[in-house]
Amino acid sequence: MNDTPIDAYCVMGNPVEHSRSPWIHARFAELTGQRLRYNRQLVALDGFAQAVHALRARGGRGCNVTIPFKFEAVALSTQVSERAALAQAANTLSFDADGIHADNTDGLGLVADIQNNLAVRLRARDVLLLGAGGAAAGALGPLLQAGPRQVLVANRTQAKADALVRRHAALARSQDCALQACGLDTMGHSFDIVINASASSLEGAAVPLQADVLRPGALAYDMMYGPAAAGFLTWARSHGARACDGLGMLVEQAAESFFIWRGVRPPSATVLAELRRVIDTTPP
Ligand code: NAP
Repeated sequence: MNDTPIDAYCVMGNPVEHSRSPWIHARFAELTGQRLRYNRQLVALDGFAQAVHALRARGGRGCNVTIPFKFEAVALSTQVSERAALAQAANTLSFDADGIHADNTDGLGLVADIQNNLAVRLRARDVLLLGAGGAAAGALGPLLQAGPRQVLVANRTQAKADALVRRHAALARSQDCALQACGLDTMGHSFDIVINASASSLEGAAVPLQADVLRPGALAYDMMYGPAAAGFLTWARSHGARACDGLGMLVEQAAESFFIWRGVRPPSATVLAELRRVIDTTPP
């Protein structure tokens, strides 16, 4: 019998009951033979720092962070990875004797899903990134590192897209990528890859794009998944695009967190296929 205490992790958010992360990490642990426990923790809107310090004091090893705490997670950490610093947002905290380490795996998850699971190349492609909130901020750095020819960040509030683009300007130059910002009325031309990183699907709002942003055969990717993504996916298919939801991103960002914590790469494609079956057979 193994008497060592089991390593504890969780996902903290508000709301958090919808989170699939406990299921995903439990499968990763089973499939890699890692001994850990992973719960979900609903945190009061003014109680995030307290909840993180309490988890650490109880011997917890780390946590995932979701809406609305990703920005606060950076502020309370003692070490911040380069990608979390660029995003100014973190979804993965790790605890050790030195303190709290913040990282952001959302963008890596998105890029892994697009390139590995969907087999769509980002290098030398034209990309439209819709949104400039936490998800878009986490995505932009890893997207640029994948070497696209152009990334246009379009947001309802253009000033937020401008700020995101300014922060990533040096990275874009180093990748020889044309990076620009705009509002929702001025996208100008069509793209190979259109990524909805806005909360439009979550809010049940109309797709805030004109169909002419889709080049023939474009990939139209919604970070949302489940029934709320259906409107965007139907819109994209009806305009000839290949439509994909964000379930693969969810599993791939979790796989990166798992790797940060455990040093082991879980079989993410297997777990994604299993999760899709679970979601497809579970009523919303
Ligand atoms: P957020 O920080 O609240 O940002 C929301 C963004 O959406 C802002 O840019 C906002 O524009 C824009 N927006 C909201 N309603 C809109 C509408 N009706 N039309 C056009 N733009 C609208 O949220 P977030 O954390 O970035 O999350 C965005 C989405 O990504 C959510 O659906 C979330 O579930 C999803 N997500 C998925 C994963 C995954 O693993 N699959 C990971 C992270 C996030 P303004 O700036 O003008 O307000």
